[in-house]
Amino acid sequence: MNRHFFDVIDQQYKPGDVIWIHDYHLLLLPEMIRKKYPDAIIGFFLHIPFPSFELFRLLPWRKELVQGLLGADVIGFHTYDYVRHFLSSVHRVLGVDTKDNLITLQNRIVKVDAFPLGIDFDGFNSSSERTDVKKEITRIRNSVQNKKIILSVDRLDYTKGIVERLEAYKLFLERNEIYRGNVILVFVAVPTRSKVDAYEQLNRQVNELIGHINGKYGTMEWQPIWYINRSVQMKTLLALYNMADVALVTPLRDGMNLVAKEYLATKQDNTGVLIISEMAGVSKELGEAIIIHPNDLDGIVDAINLALTMPINMQKQQNKIMRERLKRYDVMRWGQDFMDSIKATKIIQKNMYLLLTESKRTSIIEQYKKSNNRLIFLDYDGTLMPFFDKPEKAKPEQALLLLLKKLSDDPKNTIVIISGRDRETLDKWLGDLPVNFTAEHGVWLKAINSKWEMIEELNTDWKKEIKPVLQVYADRTPGSFIEEKGFSLAWHYRKVDSEFGLMRIRELVDDLGYYVRNFGLQVLEGNKVLEIKNSGVNKGRAATVWMNRIKHDFILAAGDDWTDEDLFKAIPKSAYSIKVGLSATQANYNVNSTEDIRSIIQDLVT
Ligand code: UDP
Repeated sequence: MNRHFFDVIDQQYKPGDVIWIHDYHLLLLPEMIRKKYPDAIIGFFLHIPFPSFELFRLLPWRKELVQGLLGADVIGFHTYDYVRHFLSSVHRVLGVDTKDNLITLQNRIVKVDAFPLGIDFDGFNSSSERTDVKKEITRIRNSVQNKKIILSVDRLDYTKGIVERLEAYKLFLERNEIYRGNVILVFVAVPTRSKVDAYEQLNRQVNELIGHINGKYGTMEWQPIWYINRSVQMKTLLALYNMADVALVTPLRDGMNLVAKEYLATKQDNTGVLIISEMAGVSKELGEAIIIHPNDLDGIVDAINLALTMPINMQKQQNKIMRERLKRYDVMRWGQDFMDSIKATKIIQKNMYLLLTESKRTSIIEQYKKSNNRLIFLDYDGTLMPFFDKPEKAKPEQALLLLLKKLSDDPKNTIVIISGRDRETLDKWLGDLPVNFTAEHGVWLKAINSKWEMIEELNTDWKKEIKPVLQVYADRTPGSFIEEKGFSLAWHYRKVDSEFGLMRIRELVDDLGYYVRNFGLQVLEGNKVLEIKNSGVNKGRAATVWMNRIKHDFILAAGDDWTDEDLFKAIPKSAYSIKVGLSATQANYNVNSTEDIRSIIQDLVT
């Protein structure tokens, strides 16, 4: 089915077109388009909730669905909860990095955000002035007389909590004799997917239940439920919204629920009471309404009572606030916001990485030659040395030591090796060179011929809490191990089967969430290593200390992973920064490998 959609797009598509794909039927389509048209501008909006990972993982095609979606540039959801669920699924299923609502893929960035769907506020708000609606109001009023109207409008879908709602209404009538004869539930249920068994079953169940309630409580003069099992005309819907004293919207699960918004928007005089399920996305926006749980029948009965007795001034007070919100973020604004977000994402993608070209390289060298006080920050693992299965194998060979020696011999140069490694290893491997050090991602600093100093006093009480957690993961994940440093703990998983390692790391990051918040920690995802340490200490801060101490007219920084991004961010924009690896970065340039970095240094020293 997705392929059919693709074929039609394929015939129509022209470069520069914006393709906006809607809803869960088409989860595979973004990737299909992206494969054929790598530069296409694609947005996707999901109109239903995105489930938590525990639910999503039950699908055997979870990976295909996530990958399909990630063909888009922007993926929109109704609420932040759904965004969170999706990001966590992406992280866990594919193991790619997600940070600040941005997903970094091999060669592209995807933005994920909440865009709560709005409605045509003005259209609903002015509906009471329409002649056809006025006529309809008179017609309906003749039938219902002065009875209070409770209104329900849904598709006849099992997600809408219709049976539970009817049961609650029945309980309400049972407990509140005074309302019998004085209230009417207008129940609009629009048939949907009626060929599907589950829907047909629901239809029967609803018919029976309504028959039962009307039979049990109805009289010659009064029918408790007025059931409309078809789509109604717009004028009728608007008349009902206008007239209803209470709107009862109790889905078991609903991406947004527009009926709730339309009801409030229609109420120009700010009267009426909305009862809304906490399981609908709309409850996040309309917090002033009466919020119920759709399975809590007692709660719904109380809510109906409360709604029917709520003083008019209170109704007005609450509705005014909600209506202003709906007016501000209407459907036009929603569409505009989404389009703006696509534009912004395209700009981020464009600036994502820039390969260091030969001419840029020449200009770095020229600038280097012209300067007299050069400050050079070099990360070690992944930048000067490639990765090995065990960290202790990444000992520098003679060629690297010679190269660094040459670089540091120039009196105009100050070199800072800025690493996540511990002090002992740096001393042992590079201690004979006339270079400065930053160890443990910025906890420790050491100037040439001086002692190690700590950037600030740090508390490590958290280590005894976290270590057992990491131990459990190390035990359950053959090939992984824990490294304890003075002010951090690291869990290495380079030797673990890659899919398994990724799965574990996702679980671990989730598990650590509690500790991170409570102990003020940060979790750094390096290359096949996860490191936990005090927050606020990072390579960026360490670089700032060095920049303050050392006079400079030229800065060069090279690094390869997330921890180096702090470094790239901290140095001035005019500095030269190079990231090893072709992925999104704050650095000015990207190169392919550690060899490129060494060859640049070689060029500098010769
Ligand atoms: N609606 C309609 N005809 C009807 C009753 C309702 O077109 O007879 C519309 C209603 O105005 C609303 C939509 O159906 O815009 C239902 O949207 P909602 O988000 O509440 O639920 P969904 O059907 O998307 O699950």
